[in-house]
Amino acid sequence: MKIALVGNQNSGKTTLFNLLTGSNQKIGNWPGVTIECKRGIIRGTEHELVDLPGIYSLSPYTLEEEVSRKFIFEENPDIIINIIDATSIERSLYLTTQLLELDTKVIIALNMTDILEKKGLHIEVEKLRKELDADIVLISALKKTGIKELIDRIDHKNIRSNQNQSIFHASIEKAISQIEQTLQGRHRRFVAIKLLEEDLLFASMHAPYMDEIARELTTYFGTDMEELIASGRYQYITALKKRTMTHHQPTITMTDRLDKIFLHRWFALPIFVVIMFLVYYLAVGTVGSLTVDFIDSNISNLGVWVHEQLLALNASHWSASLVVDGIIAGVGAVLNFVPQLIILFLCISILETTGYMSRIAFFLDRIFKRFGLSGKSLIPFIVGSGCSVPGIMATRTVEDQEERRMSIMLTPFIPCSAKLPIIVLFAGYFFPSHSGLVSASMYFLAIFVILISAVIMKKFFFKGKPSAFISELPEYKVPNPRYVLRDVGDKTFEFVKRAGSIILISSIIIWFLLSFSWGFHYGVDVEDSILASIGRLFSWVFYPILGELSWGATVSTIQGLVAKEQVVSSMAIIAGLSEDVGSGSFIFNTQIFSFFTPLSAYSFTVFNLFSVPCFGAIGAMRRELGSNKRTWLALLFQTGIAWILASLIFGIGTLIGGIFS
Ligand code: GDP
Ligand code: MG
Repeated sequence: MKIALVGNQNSGKTTLFNLLTGSNQKIGNWPGVTIECKRGIIRGTEHELVDLPGIYSLSPYTLEEEVSRKFIFEENPDIIINIIDATSIERSLYLTTQLLELDTKVIIALNMTDILEKKGLHIEVEKLRKELDADIVLISALKKTGIKELIDRIDHKNIRSNQNQSIFHASIEKAISQIEQTLQGRHRRFVAIKLLEEDLLFASMHAPYMDEIARELTTYFGTDMEELIASGRYQYITALKKRTMTHHQPTITMTDRLDKIFLHRWFALPIFVVIMFLVYYLAVGTVGSLTVDFIDSNISNLGVWVHEQLLALNASHWSASLVVDGIIAGVGAVLNFVPQLIILFLCISILETTGYMSRIAFFLDRIFKRFGLSGKSLIPFIVGSGCSVPGIMATRTVEDQEERRMSIMLTPFIPCSAKLPIIVLFAGYFFPSHSGLVSASMYFLAIFVILISAVIMKKFFFKGKPSAFISELPEYKVPNPRYVLRDVGDKTFEFVKRAGSIILISSIIIWFLLSFSWGFHYGVDVEDSILASIGRLFSWVFYPILGELSWGATVSTIQGLVAKEQVVSSMAIIAGLSEDVGSGSFIFNTQIFSFFTPLSAYSFTVFNLFSVPCFGAIGAMRRELGSNKRTWLALLFQTGIAWILASLIFGIGTLIGGIFS
């Protein structure tokens, strides 16, 4: 049997389709148009199921409606499953009244029944069944209830054929049956009504006597036929709803009360800003910088101590330098930030487990929709605040292909935990009393950049509609400490592991390139090193961002490709080798990096955050985008945005500075 799944947008069609067909599905385009079509076999049966595009009526106004109508008329499905969002039957029944006019058998699947009670709604199903003269099955596609009944109903021999409908005013009904009698073939009642409405698609069947009937009715009711039929349906539905649906006060839970605050129409956004500010203030601001100074001085002491020990053991000068100036300086520079990351991970984990994270996605959905993104693409962004790689993989939940590609390209803009060391290093040194504020500003800048990029991408590359989002939010919960600790532990371990592997190896390479000249002489001045000459080749790129030709900053940025925290490691190694000082904040006391001002520190950070992500994330992008060309485009786009933004910040900042000085 061939079964068509018909319903409004967001009624749960796709959820039900996936549930019924499992993995037996094919996705393609409808012949001739770009509307997606999904076909599959219902598990455990031989029935073919087709997910038709979401529609509100069978009028010919949209492409979706045309496609659905064509399918029903030309492919003649044996059964139509009309899926209805039970929490808003009024809106859904309009389509239902049209479907019931067809000769095709209709089963109504009343979906979302899991949230009916919570919304204080009650439907008298028996009565509705009788009034509509149709088969109704209560289901929840999300909670997977009623599915067996639905399949049983499909296999049932006697599905009601919903004849003898009469929902319009008696004189209209009379006209309909008059026309019906002159027709042949299937769907006579439906076609008769369409003829009355002068629907374009049936224009060829138009007969002269119909003009007369229509004119008579139009004069009698004082409005045109199409409107008359539509209002007839609405009146019927309103009356039907009154008879079959009752509304009682929904029970107000703690979650509802909290949502009144956190999802408040005006306060939601300010509350979110304050919360994110607090998170960064805690992690980066005062609390964090205390721990950094402590660890930093210990790591420098360790460096000095190890150096002495190695020399005492008669180690060669170069091997001691490799260990101290390369490995300890590079890996140590990154490990410095572990306490702050722990605090950041802890905050994010708490926001996640309390249920607040889903609220962020939920209310930002309203804003993001205007930019062609939906709350669904927010999930990758939130995941991406830990690491872009799982964030990019999380885009798989975004249904719409184009929106999905946009999300893949935009996710790396979110500051991941590897970028935190860069933010903290610069914010902590150049904005000591406002480091929390400056760090949080990076986060908000990221959201801004994402929205702007979405607009640009929409304009030039993508056209799709944002996909639907969650209708149900999880309850607020007190976080489970054990879960939170494990989560924080896992993420921290992951970060430390990177320091011990990727950062360690890169640090050795950097040390090598800094200690040798092209002629492989050891112990040259860093200015004559291999790395410096490579950096000089590209340093002009960064001139508009830094106001200085700096090979040190250039090579550090390039190394961010390996891992973003490597930017910090690299700067620490360069600073250490050039002037024989400790790690961390000493970086800016060296001649090589002394040109940094608060302004160039800010613009340089911005460039590092928004330009190409690390190789790991690029790989993930390549996998999910599925093409080299798209990946290159994305990388170019990201770097272009980053460069323009950073140059603008530096340029405008310099101008303003010039005016005030
Ligand atoms: P479609 O536009 O008709 O394909 O609808 P989707 O299948 O994409 O569903 C729209 C939204 O409704 C999704 O967020 C689903 O998770 C949600 N949804 C679908 N079925 C149910 C249900 O039975 N109960 C609840 N609470 N939500 C549902
Ligand atoms: Mg869908």
